[in-house]
Amino acid sequence: MTQSHQSEIEKIATLIKPTEIVDNLKKIAAAYPGQVVFSTSFSWEDQAISHFIFNNRIDIQVFTLDTGRMFPETYSTWSRTLEKYSRPITAYYPEALSLQHFTEEKGPNSFYDSVENRKLCCHIRKVEPLKRALKGKKVWITGIRAEHSPNRSDMRELEWDGGNAVVKYHPLLSWSTEEVTEFIDKNNIPYNPLHDKGFVSIGCAPCTRAIRPGEDFRAGRWWWEDASKKECGLHVHEIKN
Ligand code: SF4
Repeated sequence: MTQSHQSEIEKIATLIKPTEIVDNLKKIAAAYPGQVVFSTSFSWEDQAISHFIFNNRIDIQVFTLDTGRMFPETYSTWSRTLEKYSRPITAYYPEALSLQHFTEEKGPNSFYDSVENRKLCCHIRKVEPLKRALKGKKVWITGIRAEHSPNRSDMRELEWDGGNAVVKYHPLLSWSTEEVTEFIDKNNIPYNPLHDKGFVSIGCAPCTRAIRPGEDFRAGRWWWEDASKKECGLHVHEIKN
């Protein structure tokens, strides 16, 4: 991280205060008009942030990465969110020819065959579309929570993402699961029914499963792989989306 990136983070840090998420989002959006985005996977953390943005008409573009392999429940949560808020959600899709070549050459479920194939699938369906979504932007809002991160003690609300050249802001970093569910209930926010079935995060259908009580968060993703390889490239030390 260069000095100018550090200065950018320090500038945003002066705008935010703990627990004042709506104000924080408004101030960041005002400081960087048209350059602040939020990525949603339609998890309940992301639904809470969408609620903050949509309910307060904050000028932050909400987008999702439609990998083409999402759960039916996720598409229905997406629809219910549009119905409730009548606000746009931009969808980014994999580049058609790259995906066509990949599936022709390797098959539609080749991610089960090797880590290399899985990472290539994640690159085509998530990482490259994300780069398009973040191009020219300054701040990327995420629904990451420390509870879900293997390096939780190292995480900060603001961090520099060198790969995408943006500052990341995680407004729910310190929230507990109970705080998230209470907020969802209290505000009657549509949420993904997969959470009621034990899913702690919402990812692609072939690669995400429910976890048992006490099981590590990461057990719900790419369970057939060695734990040290579990990373999809969206968040460098993290596997949330
Ligand atoms: Fe492909 Fe699975 Fe990665 Fe989704 S999570 S992009 S289906 S490998």
